[in-house]
Amino acid sequence: MHRYDVLVVGASFAGLACARHAAELGLKVGVLERQPWPGHTVHTTGLLVREADVLLQAPAALSRRIPGVRLYTPSLRHVDLDAPGYYFAATDTPGLLRWYAEQARVAGAELHFGSAFIDARREPEGVLVNGGAYSTRFLVGADGARSSVAAHLRLGRNRAFLLGIEAEFRNLPLAVDRLHCFVDSALVPGYIGWMFQGVNGITQVGLACQRPHKPDLGALLKRLAPLADFGRAELVEKRGGLIPVGGCVAPAAAERVLLLGDAAGLVSPLTAGGIHLAIESGLRGAELIAERLGQSAPSRRPLSPVELRHPRFFWKLLLRRLLELNPPNRWLERLLFNGLSLRIARLIYFYRKGLKGWAGWRALLRR
Ligand SMILES: Cc1cc2nc3c(=O)[nH]c(=O)nc-3n(C[C@H](O)[C@H](O)[C@H](O)COP(=O)(O)OP(=O)(O)OC[C@H]3O[C@@H](n4cnc5c(N)ncnc54)[C@H](O)[C@@H]3O)c2cc1C
Repeated sequence: MHRYDVLVVGASFAGLACARHAAELGLKVGVLERQPWPGHTVHTTGLLVREADVLLQAPAALSRRIPGVRLYTPSLRHVDLDAPGYYFAATDTPGLLRWYAEQARVAGAELHFGSAFIDARREPEGVLVNGGAYSTRFLVGADGARSSVAAHLRLGRNRAFLLGIEAEFRNLPLAVDRLHCFVDSALVPGYIGWMFQGVNGITQVGLACQRPHKPDLGALLKRLAPLADFGRAELVEKRGGLIPVGGCVAPAAAERVLLLGDAAGLVSPLTAGGIHLAIESGLRGAELIAERLGQSAPSRRPLSPVELRHPRFFWKLLLRRLLELNPPNRWLERLLFNGLSLRIARLIYFYRKGLKGWAGWRALLRR
């Protein structure tokens, strides 16, 4: 039997952030990951907001900076949005996850790849996992939007999702180096399409829509033909997955059990970005667990959303409801060039990203 202070299920952004930090804090950490090696199957676009890039401090070769956003109407009229000093980082996501896993291993975590979480049973002093093959004082579920840990231990589950799909191309240069975003209520109801120049000569093109709609990548490529020459491009890979957008699950913790990242519903309901929140939740979770396990008689009380600093997403959930009303394209054509809508778009993309508080609001609204 493997015995740990903390057993983390899932070796992606949330799980690796937690495992590395918990090991750095002196805990004996194990990680279970069903994939055979880190980054084997990636389901994300892997675009980082600047804060996540700063937090990760990954080697420069694994990412490239994109200076701002170009937002398109359904007829492909566009407007450019940016904030001083702000950028997004495109990443070699499998490479990034391999690097992050190595960081966790060097910190002292034991990584078990090709090992799926199957079941868990509570014991007086901890949790027994996979029929007793692993014993842990604290179990962490960082196993994504459809968390098995949450299901087995009767924690909160994600209920609202976007479905995203993306293709990676070679030989598809873009004339303008921006994060190109497309709104179209017929093609991408409830969200957007995107296209940008990634790392190592790759261009990423994708879209996500609210369920039960299905994203139609072929239709998006046809629509984007005036902007990029898909005829000469080589398709390298396709990927996709569910993005939870219903806000934090409740409860996200129980006695000696904690959910992180997508498993906890920690994804912005508006932008559908979750990597930054996954890393932050992993780091915070590791600190709280180390604090608990360091007590002479560890409290049995579940960690609370306040201790975990879970966002409430009040405004973002409200705006998501508006997006789900799916305004017709003729409204979108007008709205996107209206001064107020542009200010709101800037706030969505850049508020709290380099520009904070009243000073941030004022700076953005003046632009
Ligand atoms: C198409 C798409 C595009 C996206 N693009 C972006 C983006 O550009 N930027 C952004 O910030 N966010 C993006 N997101 C969201 C982002 O990918 C997630 O929020 C983020 O990956 C969450 O990290 P996580 O570690 O919580 O979970 P995940 O990345 O989902 O990782 C969960 C891990 O758990 C493992 N696992 C699952 N079940 C088990 C089991 N039973 N046993 C063992 N291991 C298990 C999985 O193999 C996986 O490695 C996107 C999501 C999708 C679907």
